[in-house]
Amino acid sequence: MIRCVVCGEEYNNDEIIYTCTNCGSVLELVNDVDVSKNIFENRKDTLWKYKELIPVNEDKIVTIGEGGTPFCKCDKLGEELGVELFVKVEGSNPTGSFKDRGMTVGMTKAMDLGVDTVGCASTGNTSASLAAYAARAGLRCIVFLPSGKVALGKLAQAMFHGAEVVSLRGNFDEALEAMTSLALEKHLYLLNSINPFRLEGQKTIGYEIAQDLEWKSPDRIILPVGNAGNISAIWKGISEFYDMGFIDSKPMMTGIQAEGACPITNAFRKKSMEIDPVENPETIATAIRIGSPVSYTKALNAIYDSNGYSQTVSDEEILAAQKLLAQKEGIGVEPASAASIAGLRKLKDEGVIDKGEQIVCVVTGHLLKDPNTAIEASTEPVELDADINKLKELLLNK
Ligand SMILES: *Cc1c(COP(=O)(O)O)cnc(C)c1O
Ligand SMILES: [Zn+2]
Repeated sequence: MIRCVVCGEEYNNDEIIYTCTNCGSVLELVNDVDVSKNIFENRKDTLWKYKELIPVNEDKIVTIGEGGTPFCKCDKLGEELGVELFVKVEGSNPTGSFKDRGMTVGMTKAMDLGVDTVGCASTGNTSASLAAYAARAGLRCIVFLPSGKVALGKLAQAMFHGAEVVSLRGNFDEALEAMTSLALEKHLYLLNSINPFRLEGQKTIGYEIAQDLEWKSPDRIILPVGNAGNISAIWKGISEFYDMGFIDSKPMMTGIQAEGACPITNAFRKKSMEIDPVENPETIATAIRIGSPVSYTKALNAIYDSNGYSQTVSDEEILAAQKLLAQKEGIGVEPASAASIAGLRKLKDEGVIDKGEQIVCVVTGHLLKDPNTAIEASTEPVELDADINKLKELLLNK
């Protein structure tokens, strides 16, 4: 069953619907399953090992092997920050971001519904993922990208997998509004995270973290928040595991936003359930350059219900954290992902996070998504002839 998160209105799983026709709020899937956690052991480590908990037709699965991402204990960085730190590396998904988790489930639903065209608006990663999964499914794919604001790697992926790419004058929020209008006129099936089936895939990040910790919840999960689908999805996954008795506590959900695009943090500071959209969102972390997040109701519920937190970080703090993670732990992530590490550092300094807390930072996308930012933040290579004496000199002078 599909249910409105605000008024509780119910809809059939096969209805193509994105928001509640009664009150306009976002929707979620409600599953009524009862399984033992033992069935997940000894299965191939992709998110489809949880297939009993993902409400789509198993015979229509469109997959490239998503989920089962690395869960890295980061002792050096953890020691520096005074916490027990794990990093969930979502850049290891097939197209290099967590969006693939949502897309494998969303595309499976698209195939089951029998649609022929799919579309999304995107800051980059959703389009990269949708383009790849549409190619695999054999469907027509249309994507709207905010003109001039998409990182190079993501643009390359969307174009190369054969999506029809429109560079839209305007920001992401405007692109999403336009794409949503086309979907409501039934020209295409919308695969942005307002589509509740996307979040059924992304909730498996929560499942995996619990299983990675041997059926325990960490004290806290920290992640970047843009359109606010992912924090909502992870909380849903965690809550389902808790309700089924697989874990006996839940983490404080901690959402980090960029200073120039922070409607969720602003709402949190006022203890409000409503957001004031940010008109002209701006940040180097283009994946979270969003002023009017569609899943704000779910995200704020997750933060309040979990006794969580929300904080902003500056672009400088993001870039410093990105470099720290890359050079201290060998984990390369795109700027938006590093907001989780930057947020951890800031909240630890502010005393919101206690010493010794067990923390999982979700790093959402791969370093290579945004090569330009990485190159700009690095020192240029020295150019030398292959003269062994000169090269020796270089090594000895260091
Ligand atoms: C999409 C994305 C986000 C933001 O996730 P939301 O669900 O929109 O809050 C963060 N980081 C990366 C790398 C992303 O691709
Ligand atoms: Zn409603």
